[in-house]
Amino acid sequence: MNERMKELVELLNRYATEYYTSDNPSVSDSEYDRLYRELVELEIAYPEQVLPDSPTHRVGGKILDGFKKYSHQYPLYSLQDAFSREELDAFDARVRKELDDVTYICELKIDGLSISLTYEQGIFAAGATRGDGSVGENITENLKRVKDIPLSLSEKIDITVRGECYMPRDSFNQVNLARQENGEPEFANPRNAAAGTLRQLDTAVVAKRNLATFLYQEASPSTRDSQEKVLNHLEQLGFVVNPRRLLAHSMDEVWEFIQEVGQERDQLPYDIDGVVIKVNDLTGQEQLGFTVKAPKWAVAYKFPAEEKEAKLLSVDWTVGRTGVVTPTANLTPVQLAGTTVSRATLHNVDYIAEKDIRKDDTVIVYKAGDIIPAVLRVVESKRVSEEKLGIPTNCPSCESKLLHFEDEVALRCINPQCPAQIKEGLIHFASRDAMNISGLGPSIVEKLFAANLVKDVADIYRLTVEDFLVLDGIKEKSAQKLYQAIQASKENSAEKLLFGLGIRHVGSKASQLLLQHFHSIESLAQANPEEVASIESLGNVIAQSLQSYFETEGAKILLSELKELGVNLDYKGQVVAVDAALSGLTVVLTGKLERLTRSEAKSKLENLGAKVTGSVSKKTDLVVAGAEAGSKLQKAQELGIEIRDEAWLEGL
Ligand code: NAD
Repeated sequence: MNERMKELVELLNRYATEYYTSDNPSVSDSEYDRLYRELVELEIAYPEQVLPDSPTHRVGGKILDGFKKYSHQYPLYSLQDAFSREELDAFDARVRKELDDVTYICELKIDGLSISLTYEQGIFAAGATRGDGSVGENITENLKRVKDIPLSLSEKIDITVRGECYMPRDSFNQVNLARQENGEPEFANPRNAAAGTLRQLDTAVVAKRNLATFLYQEASPSTRDSQEKVLNHLEQLGFVVNPRRLLAHSMDEVWEFIQEVGQERDQLPYDIDGVVIKVNDLTGQEQLGFTVKAPKWAVAYKFPAEEKEAKLLSVDWTVGRTGVVTPTANLTPVQLAGTTVSRATLHNVDYIAEKDIRKDDTVIVYKAGDIIPAVLRVVESKRVSEEKLGIPTNCPSCESKLLHFEDEVALRCINPQCPAQIKEGLIHFASRDAMNISGLGPSIVEKLFAANLVKDVADIYRLTVEDFLVLDGIKEKSAQKLYQAIQASKENSAEKLLFGLGIRHVGSKASQLLLQHFHSIESLAQANPEEVASIESLGNVIAQSLQSYFETEGAKILLSELKELGVNLDYKGQVVAVDAALSGLTVVLTGKLERLTRSEAKSKLENLGAKVTGSVSKKTDLVVAGAEAGSKLQKAQELGIEIRDEAWLEGL
């Protein structure tokens, strides 16, 4: 058995799960592509040793629980890729072996996720993700909230179309800013943000996130004879089709188009990761056919991962919640994959030493995982000074001596009273997966801390509306809202509090398991470590960490203070967050309701976050229609607005 092949299959399958199923990649696409290539080469050299679970034989990822499965009537494929002119020429040669006269059509390769849309008699009937190509997730309801997907077409036809759903860069930046402010983890890149949005269960979230689409394929047998005509037809039907495309008669023309697009890439309002080159003639496509994974009539040219040179101006050292001190480089600004980058991570002290990064160096920056700017290496030929970078010996926040443990790559501040750690701890406490105190993000925490109003998490529950009003830029309304969000968090089920305490190794999943078992934080605090360690998927490390935490005097005082302040310490079971199921949606009620009165229905909708209005317009997101609904229902149907009935409202 070729060990490297086995290793690569395991690694690539793990990365694919992170990328497709969890929408949370840990390596950049170029790193994935590099390993994939290595595997392909080994599989060509040792065809008898190809592993059955090799990613070279499969499309995409696994189906998420929570969505219904959707069997594709017409399978979806991946694309073979090319990284150089030579590889494109090889593709061209393969095509010309089969076809005499070839015209290619070049399209932008949009970096989003594949969607498949089915229309019956011109009405949107179902939408799904690609999944493994044969079975995807049924995400019809979510796709209805993507504004540019037509709910009815200009022709009453049965058709299945394919395209890419993406998040424009502007929306991506806004979404991440809001997530940062709420203490939620940011999305790695627009692709993951789009996939993460479509593959979650709250349709209201989709409506808010401004996703968009480009359609590029008719999956059901086409009545057109070329890809160019298919694209024009899709446009006539009401779909958005990318306008940037070119018919090319030779690889020279294709290559020129690729160079042009490469130049324009930064200015586009959305991410692309390459150019797709397809045989234009559909009969030609049919003649070439498919491999198990991809059409033989198309190839995706992938742009190399962008790297830029920048000058290192200075290094900031910041202290995180757990005391780890991280270096960030300040750089001369450079344009990188659509954004201006002037700061990039240097990871840790060991990384600086290993890469031998020195003062005033010229460095290469890239976007790791395609989003977080990082310093990759030094351009030694441009070195101007031999002086080493200064490594701090004392904490930049509290001045206490920093430690560099032997088994760690990072520097650490171990002072539990360190202000930077406390602030980060407070931000974590208020974050979504912890106490979910909406509005209590980094900037408010910073102000509260500076005003000496909070020193630990218990102080959060001592804050009054007046306290917020002394802070810069906080008005009565937001002070009230913040206060109420804090009060509401007291009722949270206790696993949120446990996670919020930020005990080392105790993540949100572990907190859930622990509270399911012990029912309250107080009994967990008394628990014997063996019992903790015996809980499935936990273990000694967590048990030890909990024991050391709950033994401290500080923890004992904090818990009794929280209890006194009215914070719930008991497990309340699975709490389903329905509070904002319709948040931000404009809803119209029409017709006679049978079981609910009008005002009951209205207040129910409003409690779920909807705005209830009287007339139907383009701005309406949803119409709830009772018996004998008349002109409003008709108008809603004409505008393609989603229509629901009384039973649906009752079930909410
Ligand atoms: P792909 O993304 O390379 O190409 C196929 C997809 O391109 C199609 O399914 C379609 O959705 C899309 N596409 C966009 N514009 C198109 C157009 N105009 N015409 C046709 N298709 C268009 O292939 P894939 O199988 O989806 O994914 C493989 C790639 O995903 C890898 O090469 C890698 O870059 C990335 N990946 C990354 C990781 C990671 O951990 N970072 C893991 C797995 C995969």
